[in-house]
Parts: sequence; C-alpha cells; structure tokens
Amino acid sequence: MSSNTRIAEVFTLPSKGLIYEEEVNPEVVLSSMTTRHEMLRLSTTEDSQKIMAQIIDDCIESDLGISAYDLCLGDFQYLMFMLRVVTFGNEYELRGRCPYCGFEQVTKLHLDELEVKEYDDSLVDLLELELPKSGNKVRLTLQTPRMLDRISTKVKEYRRRHKDTDENPVILYNIIASIEELDDEKPNAFTLEEWVKNLPLADTNAIINRIDLINNKIGIDLSVEGECKICKTTYQVPFRINQTFFRPGSE
Ligand SMILES: [Zn+2]
Repeated sequence: MSSNTRIAEVFTLPSKGLIYEEEVNPEVVLSSMTTRHEMLRLSTTEDSQKIMAQIIDDCIESDLGISAYDLCLGDFQYLMFMLRVVTFGNEYELRGRCPYCGFEQVTKLHLDELEVKEYDDSLVDLLELELPKSGNKVRLTLQTPRMLDRISTKVKEYRRRHKDTDENPVILYNIIASIEELDDEKPNAFTLEEWVKNLPLADTNAIINRIDLINNKIGIDLSVEGECKICKTTYQVPFRINQTFFRPGSE
C-alpha cells in the first residue's frame, strides 16, 4: 500500500545552526507523523525528551548533522511545534482565565505565526558570568533535551540516596548540567556538586536567572496575549501544551 501521503515542509532552525560545535544544517525538511510515531509518543519510558527526539529525528528527511536530542532547547521546541503543524495543521486553542474579572475563555492561535527568537551575537556574552558574591567565573552552556533527561535521572538518584531528606535537588542538577567551565577550567563532577551546594544563594540565583535567560534567547516566544471578552482587558495567556497538541479534537 502506498504511504506517500505524508506531507513534508522546510523549516529553518531559530539558531540558524550557528551555536553548535558540529556542523548543523539549519534547513530542516520535516515530514508528518504516522501511527508508529504516536505509538512511540505514548510509550511510558522515563526519558520523555529522548522519545520526542527520536520521533523528530525519524521525521527529519534532511541531514541535520546531529540528533534532535542534542539541539538547544529552543531549536528542539521549534521542531516539536513545526512537527505538530505539519502533522495536524497550525490551529491551536489556549484556555485561560482573565486575571481581572475571572472570565474563562479560549484564545485561538496559529502555531506557525508565533514570534520566533533567532540567534544573535549577544548570546555569546551571556554565556560568561562573574558571580556577585564569590567572584568565581562560570561559563554556561545552552541546555539540550538530553541534559533535561539527565537532570531528571540525577534527581531521582539523589532522592533514592537521601531518603531521609525533603530537599529538592532540581536546582542543584540544573546548575551542574549548565556549567561548562569554572574559573576557566573544566570542573570535576564530584567537587562541582559540593561547590554548588555551598554556593552563596545570591550566586546560585544569578546562575539560575542566567540559565533561564540563555535558554529563552532562542526559540518560539510563548508569550500570548488575549483580550477578555467581558472586561476588554488585555492579559498574558499561559501557554500550555495540552492533550490537543498531538491529539487535536480530543477535548
Ligand atoms: Zn476580564
């Protein structure tokens, strides 16, 4: 039976491929998902990013150069959105509540018309950070889906090892994953963990803020504005990937 009914479209990565050590071709030919991909998506593995990366890799018809698992989060999220567009179309509905009068309404949007933040040179300076209290110099790296899976594995291990504590180690492993250099040297994994744990909180905060800033520097801008039908106030509608993202009409 013929299976040539899959649609393929060309998209350009927001990073333009300029942020990778490897050669990355930013022009991506993406074809639509099949039942097989949905079977993968619904798998119950713990590495949730890895599954989505596998699906994206399989739907890419061009030579990307690396796996989607190693793209920066902004490029990865962009391809995930465009995979939805090429598979089901660009219409998406967000449900939100007006913060002023409480009226709940649906905001309709087109996923391929959201603003895309592309790479620009200002990112380079943001990767270097001198910490306000300790004076240490850290060099950060953009996070990837592979790193997110590793962070959640580390968090689970930590909780298994420290059953008697209520500590939330997410912040710890989020920082560890992002530090590429500490005072111009590759940090040792074990000493880095102790170093982060004992870091003045003001420094920790500076690192976390910077990680968020650089992760959000590239990719789709998810700040969506809606106007309340009742009180006419304009407000930010929180963007949520709900069931209808890969199952339109399922609500
Ligand atoms: Zn209102």
